[in-house]
Amino acid sequence: MVQEQILARGVVDPRTLAAMSEVPRHLFVDDAMRARAYGDYPLPIASGQTISAPYIVAVMTEALQLRGDERVLEIGTGSGYQAAVLSRLCSQVYTVERLNTLLATARKLFDKLKYFNIVAKLDDGTLGWTEHAPYDAIIVTAGGPEIPEPLLAQLADPGRLIMPVGDQNVQELQLVRKEDDKIRIERLSSVRFVDLVGEHGW
Ligand code: SAH
Repeated sequence: MVQEQILARGVVDPRTLAAMSEVPRHLFVDDAMRARAYGDYPLPIASGQTISAPYIVAVMTEALQLRGDERVLEIGTGSGYQAAVLSRLCSQVYTVERLNTLLATARKLFDKLKYFNIVAKLDDGTLGWTEHAPYDAIIVTAGGPEIPEPLLAQLADPGRLIMPVGDQNVQELQLVRKEDDKIRIERLSSVRFVDLVGEHGW
């Protein structure tokens, strides 16, 4: 997976590649999907949601440029796979999910794999997680109409945020950099994510 889908397509950050080699992706999908866990596509998880394709996880992870000492906020825990990858690359991951079934399954996996630097909670993640702000990096793994204002407010300076922004069919991956109180937005590839549902989402 790492060689053929990720490295070959231009994600070269050695720490991202190592994290994705380490995390057992097959444990984050249903038993029935196990054989397809390392394929080059997203897969359905419970409650009509999806685990992103490995390449997309890699692109988003690399864009955050984590060095090891960061505190990272993720919105949309889903299967827990993206949070697991991030947990290998920073000091602390905070992840928010709005569906309890998914959250419960992901939490069990974090314990099983001894990824003790991930804390997860049930909530509307478009409001962020004020208690632990500011975050050096924020990643939103569901697509919304705009970047939720609370997330921009909870981003550290300097800080990086990545999120799919667009309509409910197609979005563009936007990389936001906050530096010296200024916000710069870089538009990366075109993507398709499930809906970000909530006060600052759909
Ligand atoms: N990062 C996940 C991708 C899951 S799909 C993974 O690695 O598997 C997106 C997830 O975002 C879904 O589980 C969905 O329930 C969740 N979601 C959507 N809107 C949300 C919100 N406002 N707050 C928290 N989670 C949300």
